[in-house]
Amino acid sequence: MEGQPDSGPLRVAGRALRKSFGGIEVLHGVDLEAVGGRVLALLGENGAGKSTAVKILAGDYRRDSGEILVNDQPVVIRSPRDASDLGIRVIYQEFSDAPDLTVSENLSLGNLPRNRLGLVDWAAMRSDAEAILDELGINLDPKAIVGSLRVAERQILEIARALAGDARMLILDEPTSALTIEETQTLFSFIRQLKAQGAAVIYITHRLDEVEEIADDVLVFRDGYVVAEGPRSSFTRHDMAEAMVGAKLDETVANLHADHAEPGQPMLELSGVTIEPFFENVDLTVRSGEIVSLFGRLGCGSMELAESVFGLKRLDSGEMTVAGVEGQVRSPTAAARRGVGFVPVDRKEEGLLTVLSVAENLSVASWSLLTRMGLLSPKASLKVYERWQDRLAIRGTRGARQVVSTLSGGNQQKVVLGRWLERDSKLLVMAEPTRGVDVGARAEIYRVLRGFADEGLAILVVSSDIEEVLRISDRIIVMSRGVVVAEHPAGGVDRARLVREAAASHHEAAATGG
Ligand code: ADP
Ligand code: MG
Repeated sequence: MEGQPDSGPLRVAGRALRKSFGGIEVLHGVDLEAVGGRVLALLGENGAGKSTAVKILAGDYRRDSGEILVNDQPVVIRSPRDASDLGIRVIYQEFSDAPDLTVSENLSLGNLPRNRLGLVDWAAMRSDAEAILDELGINLDPKAIVGSLRVAERQILEIARALAGDARMLILDEPTSALTIEETQTLFSFIRQLKAQGAAVIYITHRLDEVEEIADDVLVFRDGYVVAEGPRSSFTRHDMAEAMVGAKLDETVANLHADHAEPGQPMLELSGVTIEPFFENVDLTVRSGEIVSLFGRLGCGSMELAESVFGLKRLDSGEMTVAGVEGQVRSPTAAARRGVGFVPVDRKEEGLLTVLSVAENLSVASWSLLTRMGLLSPKASLKVYERWQDRLAIRGTRGARQVVSTLSGGNQQKVVLGRWLERDSKLLVMAEPTRGVDVGARAEIYRVLRGFADEGLAILVVSSDIEEVLRISDRIIVMSRGVVVAEHPAGGVDRARLVREAAASHHEAAATGG
């Protein structure tokens, strides 16, 4: 095989890589090198070119120029197959596994054991799979259908495939955005295992805490250039964030704490609301002009609470008043009619019509319109786009016509937001507003939210991101195990206290809450 290492650690390098899409260059000659036994964190805002660079290494994209070297020898990578032959594996956010197959079939994809007659040896396949899973200490049923697994389990399965397939290099492109803290830890332990086997790992993320935990080296992309690199220990969190966004960071932090108007009329009032077993006896008021955050860990009940406000869940008991009108919200359509907008966590599944353009998505302001898509006039939707593009700083390469699925996460989030603003919502409920969105776009989303609050929108944010709630909230309400355990005004609390409160045990929560 070309570029086979003779001795010493494996080195996979891209040199002077360039790539354009539709005449616009998005990689301007970048160099990167991953070394066996080390984890290289690839950082950068959405749209910086990270995925494009690794897709070139993986043979998914053809570079326009530049070369790829394995241990200083140029190699030919023109297809995923070429990359795979060199031992380069990629785990994308979107899964490459086959959802209708079982775990064991999936593990042996492309490498099915055959018996002497040349037929697939199913028994051998099953026992091979068991051996692999066993050896890796992975607790998955070989007979389980892949499509029925949870996201984390599918990630682990992909890693198992990489480990079983003798990967010399593993690339993970933002693997943890859908994972819980525990699942992320499991993923990390596999990455450490791969590292110990001498594999080179490229880890793309926008989470700086993960970088501190798992990376040996750091490389920062901005606008298609490498703007910083070095051993992880030479970067503070602030250094990394600053390299990612350039000078914008401080400026946006300052803007956020600018004066804003006193809150107005209550737009949401909840009194003693309960949905078993998610939350119990919660009182909450959100007024026009304020941003209230519900802070808590996964499973604290805040998400279900938010869903009930948008008519996705029914209350067992308690009272709800929305924009002065008493009574439960019975459906999302009713919620939209009563002036409630909802931005869910999973934009792809619940929020955006990913095959439509930015302008069309912005124009789909009501749920009833969803079924009459054919009636959207391009002219009208272009107007809508022009109204919001600037204000929300929607950044794409093709303007109004760009298909939403090709936008970065942060820009997709802005489109969902714009849709509700276009509808003139009075109360906006946002779940994890910046999950899967990186620093720069985050700051923009925060600024946009603050701007609309200042104009009178009431905003309820559900978040498990401590930095986020500290940055954007006028009030922070802490939930733990289904009850409200604390409430703090903006600036009136520190991180350590929030962490402690959100971790309150059931007993403590019951004692502090209500
Ligand atoms: P990152 O992974 O850092 O978020 P990407 O590599 O996905 O960034 O994107 C870099 C730029 O290239 C973005 O402006 C993006 O819109 C553009 N881009 C990426 N893939 C394509 C594609 N297949 N077609 C057109 N533009 C693309
Ligand atoms: Mg990407």
